[in-house]
Amino acid sequence: MPSPFLGCALAFCLLAVRVSAADDHIGSGKDEITIHPINHATLSLSCNGVTVYADPVGEAKRFADLPAADLILVTDIHGDHMSAPTLEAIAKDKTHIIVPAAVAEKLTEALKSKLIILKNGETKEINGLKITAVPMYNLSADRLKFHDKGRGNGYVVEMGGKRIYLSGDTEDIPEMRALKNIEVAFVCMNLPYTMTEDQAASAVREFRPKIVYPYHYRGSDTEKFKKLVGTDAGVEVRLRDWYAK
Ligand SMILES: [Zn+2]
Repeated sequence: MPSPFLGCALAFCLLAVRVSAADDHIGSGKDEITIHPINHATLSLSCNGVTVYADPVGEAKRFADLPAADLILVTDIHGDHMSAPTLEAIAKDKTHIIVPAAVAEKLTEALKSKLIILKNGETKEINGLKITAVPMYNLSADRLKFHDKGRGNGYVVEMGGKRIYLSGDTEDIPEMRALKNIEVAFVCMNLPYTMTEDQAASAVREFRPKIVYPYHYRGSDTEKFKKLVGTDAGVEVRLRDWYAK
C-alpha cells in the first residue's frame, strides 16, 4: 500500500502533469499544431516533429516536459524575452536561435554559432518552417522609450500550412493591422510597456486572426479584451492562465 505521503506526492505529480500539459491543438494529422503557453511571453509551438520556443526565459525546468527546441525565436533585449542563461541551458547542438541584431549583441560567445539574425521584414526558411521578422514598437509619446522601431522583432511563423503571429512587445502598429491570413495570433497588452486592451482589440478586429491568445498581459483585463473583440469579427479569443504558479 502506498503511504499517505506517497499518495500525496502522486496526486501532486498528477496535478503538475495536468497543469504543464495544458496544450491546445490546431488542425489535425501531421499538420496538427500544438500550442503550449508557458509564462508571460514564453510559449512553445510544435508541428510535425519540429518544435519552436518563443522568448524562453526562466529556469530550464520550465521546458523539461517539452520536446527540445529545434528553433528558438527571441523578440527583444528585455529580461522577460531574452535570457542568455536560459538559452544556454536549453539550446541543443542543432538548435537555431533567431534574433534581432540588438539581441545578438547581448548574447554570450557560447551562443553565437547558433544565431541567425533577422531584421524587420526579413524571412528565413529553416527546419521546414518559414519565419518572417515583423516590426514591433511603441507609438504613444509616453511609451516611445520602451521599444524603438527596428530594434525588436515580432514573428510570423508558417508551420503546418498555417501562419502564426507572435506580436512581441508592441502597440497597435499599422504593420500589425495589415497582417493577412493569420490563423493564430499571440497579442501582448500591458501598460506602460505595450498597449491597452482597447488598442489590442481594435487591431485584432482589423487583421482578424482566426484565433487570438492575449499573452504578455500582466495587469491587464483579458475579459475586457475579449468583450471588445466581440463575436462579430469571426475571431475566437482564447483566454489562458499565463501566470499559473
Ligand atoms: Zn515584454
